[in-house]
Amino acid sequence: MSDNRSDILVIGGGIVGLSTAWYLRRAGASVAVLSRDPVATGSSAGNAGMIVPSHVVPLSAPGVISQGLRWLLNPASPFYIKARLDPDLLRWIWTFRAHCTSRHVAYAAPILAGLSLASVRLYDELQDTIGDYGWLQTGLMMVYRSEKYREENERGADVAAALGLRIRRLDEAATRAIEPAIRSRVTGSVLYEDDGRVDPDALLARLAAALRVAGVRIEEGVDVRSLERTASGMRVSTKVGAHEADRVVLAAGAWSSRLARTVGLRLPVQPAKGYSITIPTPSEGAPRIPMILSEDKVTVTPMPGRIRFGGTLALGDFDPSVDPRRYAPIRDQARAYGPEVPDADLAADRAWSGFRPASPDGLPIVGPVRGNERLVLATGHGMMGITLGPVTGRLVADLAAGTSPVVDPAPFDPARF
Ligand SMILES: Cc1cc2nc3c(=O)[nH]c(=O)nc-3n(C[C@H](O)[C@H](O)[C@H](O)COP(=O)(O)OP(=O)(O)OC[C@H]3O[C@@H](n4cnc5c(N)ncnc54)[C@H](O)[C@@H]3O)c2cc1C
Repeated sequence: MSDNRSDILVIGGGIVGLSTAWYLRRAGASVAVLSRDPVATGSSAGNAGMIVPSHVVPLSAPGVISQGLRWLLNPASPFYIKARLDPDLLRWIWTFRAHCTSRHVAYAAPILAGLSLASVRLYDELQDTIGDYGWLQTGLMMVYRSEKYREENERGADVAAALGLRIRRLDEAATRAIEPAIRSRVTGSVLYEDDGRVDPDALLARLAAALRVAGVRIEEGVDVRSLERTASGMRVSTKVGAHEADRVVLAAGAWSSRLARTVGLRLPVQPAKGYSITIPTPSEGAPRIPMILSEDKVTVTPMPGRIRFGGTLALGDFDPSVDPRRYAPIRDQARAYGPEVPDADLAADRAWSGFRPASPDGLPIVGPVRGNERLVLATGHGMMGITLGPVTGRLVADLAAGTSPVVDPAPFDPARF
């Protein structure tokens, strides 16, 4: 029996689910959000908070497979695959491999640039509406020390520049002049001026509060077990009951494919686990702008009162425990940039872990399901979910209302796989 009915039920209380609920509500729909975890605690909370139009080259790019295979042999590398005989994981890797081509990069780069720049504009508007969540267009520096990574950064910068993104190529002196806090050896950097950062914890808290004020019911601690098409809409079953809605938006992050399977849908989304550690801002020598340390694949994000360090990508891994060897480079940077803190404060058991919902072509999966238009997907954002949350929410709301969409939805169509 149903005990609740809304126009639209959003499953997932991360950045994608909450942004979607926000834009649907603004378009006049009655919306409820169901979330297994409390809203400001999951993958959307402890991440690096970088807003990255710079990330125009998708993860599926030429050379990634060979580099990934080399890294697989190194237990301290920033990448690994949790090997298991899971047909969904194998299918995901196969599809990913097919997208690791220059042709795919040429196709995906302008799409990702357009999508993230649209989200940047929405972040400006949203902060004016719901209050300060630390959004600042600070720019972001990709810092390198070796020739290999200089070349890799140069190639990325070429692609971004051709798409009209504002970049500056800096030598060592110019890099240090812009960010005197850099501790490590560097030979240069690329500064992406369109990028910035948010405080993700504050963002989610503000968004949830604004949604409640706008009359959106957010139910936390609700573990959805299955979805079902009914004669008049969708039914969502939980351990304790059922909810009915005209439409369901599935925004359950890395868990979306499990729920999609209950309606017979094979959704290629895999977890890509990552870690972060957050420390108080030191009184002197704190970094001012976000950085990515290319060789170590470690992110450094100054947030109000704190600095967050992040990294590692473990494909197919749903285990929240932290591997001390892979966490070590993140801890070392926290030691280098942070105030003096006891070793215990930076121990692996103090680190946070979260799961990026990775799609095999590096583009999000957004839109109604063919053959069941009442089920809408909003997932697969991988490393860019915080960046792309608002534009995803706006796109879902535009499609639901039948208004002119904020971006062309075709590249994100779930039917492409
Ligand atoms: C270390 C790290 C650093 C990152 N840095 C950045 C960055 O700098 N910039 C950036 O843009 N992105 C970054 N990301 C990626 C970003 O965090 C994710 O892409 C984003 O959080 C995904 O948001 P989501 O809403 O899709 O999923 P989530 O935040 O994972 O939310 C999923 C929601 O679904 C709910 N749910 C799941 N299953 C069920 C169920 N059965 N029933 C009910 N509810 C359910 C969960 O409780 C949760 O509320 C980073 C990720 C990691 C791990």
